Amino acid sequence: MTASFSNLSLAEPLARAVAEMGYESMTPIQAQAIPVVLTGKDVMGAAQTGTGKTAAFSLPLLQRLLKHENTSTSPARHPVRALVLLPTRELADQVAQQIKLYAKYTQMRSAVVFGGMDMKPQTLELKRGVEILVATPGRLLDHIEAKNAVLNQVEYVVLDEADRMLDIGFLPDLQRILSFLPKQRTTLLFSATFSPEIKRLAGSYLQDPITIEVARPNQTASTVEQRFYAAQDDDKRRVVKAVLNQRGIKQAFVFVNSKLGCGRLARSLEREGLKTAALHGDKSQDERLKALEAFKQGEVDLLVCTDVAARGLDIKDVPAVFNFDVPFNAEDYVHRIGRTGRAGASGLAVTLVSPSDMRLVSDIEKLIKTKLEVENYPLDDDRPRGNVNEGQREERRDNRREERRPERGFERRGDADESRDRRSSFRPAQASRDPFFEKPYEAPSAEQASAASWEASPKSVATRPGLSANIKPKRKVAALFKSGE
Ligand code: AMP
Repeated sequence: MTASFSNLSLAEPLARAVAEMGYESMTPIQAQAIPVVLTGKDVMGAAQTGTGKTAAFSLPLLQRLLKHENTSTSPARHPVRALVLLPTRELADQVAQQIKLYAKYTQMRSAVVFGGMDMKPQTLELKRGVEILVATPGRLLDHIEAKNAVLNQVEYVVLDEADRMLDIGFLPDLQRILSFLPKQRTTLLFSATFSPEIKRLAGSYLQDPITIEVARPNQTASTVEQRFYAAQDDDKRRVVKAVLNQRGIKQAFVFVNSKLGCGRLARSLEREGLKTAALHGDKSQDERLKALEAFKQGEVDLLVCTDVAARGLDIKDVPAVFNFDVPFNAEDYVHRIGRTGRAGASGLAVTLVSPSDMRLVSDIEKLIKTKLEVENYPLDDDRPRGNVNEGQREERRDNRREERRPERGFERRGDADESRDRRSSFRPAQASRDPFFEKPYEAPSAEQASAASWEASPKSVATRPGLSANIKPKRKVAALFKSGE
């Protein structure tokens, strides 16, 4: 499909902003949703993150609201006209950033409110008046109760990632928020799945919605090549390196299931000559920021992360995602591999499957309704099999301990933050807005990118501190277990 934004007759300030973003053609969800939203009809959209969903609802919504545009300094002239609700602060922040970009040549004001932050600066912004308010449900209710947010002039409400909001238990909060909105309004609901609960929600709050489905619910983006390779735990690192080498891939995300495993894997890969950074829930905001920034700058080749990073990160064009551990939750698989192949770019998702993971793989098969083939990956190696050193033993013990207590993802953590906030609205100021998600990913410069660490010459690799001098490439050993074990 080559649907162009120019066919939409967007107002000049919006068209200019889109042109500046460098978008050449509409993504499928945009081509389908924008014309419908422009008519003011309710929409029930099934679309994954990374499909261009934010522009699909925010551009037509801005276009419809332009009639209210004004330069008055009076807050009364800037009531909330559009409300966008999201499950986590990271997603809220990201969507708000995008809306600001699309609205930058208009007089429309937008703001974002979410938990875990001092309410005061948010209150000041709300009191000044904003037309577009992006929020997480808990914090929004705090502002409604404090009379900072008045919603009786809302014309558009967007329930984004609605399935996740229900998973977290936001239904009562959503119901309360929706009770403050005018009956006469347009409601847009986006969800990765159309579960019976989502259909019930839509049945209660949407009027004759137009259903838009760009990919079947729970389908993975077709631009992602998905590979499942059989690998014993001890072989996984070498498979990662071999795939990177073979495909000439310069940067990738590597997902693991535990925080301890995350740190350990990052350190092991680093010792083996790769530039890595670890990203998980126990890292401070500053550390997370540094890790992501280093990845964006190309100083880091592999971002080793837990599912804490699976949602919300809008990093374009990550060429590959590795599932070093098969996720416990099949839905996390869809989110993890959604980090690559975004907005039409092609991507590679490699999942490393040990014999005990077959049940998790079949959960993924069921979810994405696709038969998955676990292939053997030929490794060159001369290391004796089954020789587990103390570091690896420790790593396994940690992973087993954490398996019983897997790390909670952003959503649930966001939820916990939200509910904490609800109990005590005015907490001391915390770090200002998470800049982690603010800057778009830019591919490293040619110079930075030219020497991915695993492509370095043997000489330069050997000079890396801590790298074993015993690594000898190219000696064949059967390294694979039989599939189907
Ligand atoms: P979203 O699904 O809204 O999170 O968007 C994912 C990414 O796709 C964002 O970085 C957008 O800037 C980008 N994007 C959105 N629409 C387009 C488009 N038409 N062409 C290229 N990139 C886009």
